[in-house]
Amino acid sequence: MPEHKLVSKIAIPTHLRAQVQAKLAYVDENISGATISNDGGAIFLRLHSTATRPALQDLESKVHSVVADMAKGAVQPKVEVLEDYLDRSVPCAADPMPDLLARGEVSREHTGIYSLGPMLARLIEVFESYFLELAAEFDAKPQRFPTLISAEKLGRVNYFRAFPHSLTFATHLREDLHVINDFAEGARFESDGLNAPAASFSKIQALLSPAVCYHLYFALADNPLPGSHLAATAVGHCFRYESSNLSTLERMWDFTMREIIFVGPADFVLQNRHRARQQVSLFLERVGMAYNVESANDPFFVGEFRKQAAFQNAFQLKYEIRARLPFKDETLAVGSYNYHQDFFGRHLNITLPDGKPAHTGCIAFGLERLAYAFVCQFGLEPATWPAPIREAWHG
Ligand code: AMP
Ligand code: ZN
Repeated sequence: MPEHKLVSKIAIPTHLRAQVQAKLAYVDENISGATISNDGGAIFLRLHSTATRPALQDLESKVHSVVADMAKGAVQPKVEVLEDYLDRSVPCAADPMPDLLARGEVSREHTGIYSLGPMLARLIEVFESYFLELAAEFDAKPQRFPTLISAEKLGRVNYFRAFPHSLTFATHLREDLHVINDFAEGARFESDGLNAPAASFSKIQALLSPAVCYHLYFALADNPLPGSHLAATAVGHCFRYESSNLSTLERMWDFTMREIIFVGPADFVLQNRHRARQQVSLFLERVGMAYNVESANDPFFVGEFRKQAAFQNAFQLKYEIRARLPFKDETLAVGSYNYHQDFFGRHLNITLPDGKPAHTGCIAFGLERLAYAFVCQFGLEPATWPAPIREAWHG
């Protein structure tokens, strides 16, 4: 695989390295990976194929512009750590992936698309039974949401501007006899994808959902909130195209999220977010997970990056539960506590009894990541797992 070294015009600050590295995947289709040198002065790009001189120049200028955009005026955010149990001793230190693959517990269907076997499926059910109990404590009513999501509604909440790079579009063949016949006769999967011409496909009306709670806000749009506040819970498939960042169960294109969602006045949302964190913390303590909770940002696309990331930080809008992956001494976000202020209430016209826009917040868990982080820390043998999980496993 060809490599290309590029000297950065700006020394990339340490706190931005992981985010810049992740963004570089979207800069050019020829980039299959990127590493930033320890001093932040050089970027090593792995390319799919050898590029011509003009193509390399174009690629370099895009890389420089992304780096400049992200670094310009970026101040190092003060990471606020709310809980720190990363030192909890856990029994396992090996990478579980080879075993999970060998046992058929994980099968890769395509990049970012994975099937899980009976052990992981059951483990996720165990976590789910806990989340349902937790939701009941908040009187969060269960709801079911679609996998598709309205393009019109996503537009209303500026999603296309904030996260264009990770969108997944749903389309279908145009209602045209020639188009359908041509497709039926000629469609073949080639090494780079389906060979059908782009003009065969309809204009986009729907996408695959990137999150769960948006559906609740869309359902409540343009109406006064029924009552002064509400809580709901739902699980759903979520889709985020993470390009060459898609790797194992850590970063998937199609994953499932359980959310508990709060809508109402600011203090209702904030108090419940806080109470939910306290409850989850007790659960993680009983399980014995090694994790921390720290302030975080959503992965805004570069144009929005600095402003939005600083805003989220300043207003304590997002905290992540990061589980330790002992085999590589890194952490992985398995869940998040989010407060959107009155963003959805304003954009979707959801009003409180006093006429003001509703505030919203959610707590969200990535179910595959949670199961993966759990087996990273506790291994693949249910008989040796911590009692609360083992007991729930046996039902
Ligand atoms: P977020 O809304 O970004 O805070 O996501 C909530 C949770 O979903 C995260 O804490 C992860 O556990 C999970 N998650 C987000 N993106 C992915 C992904 N690409 N693959 C697997 N899990 C994910
Ligand atoms: Zn949410």
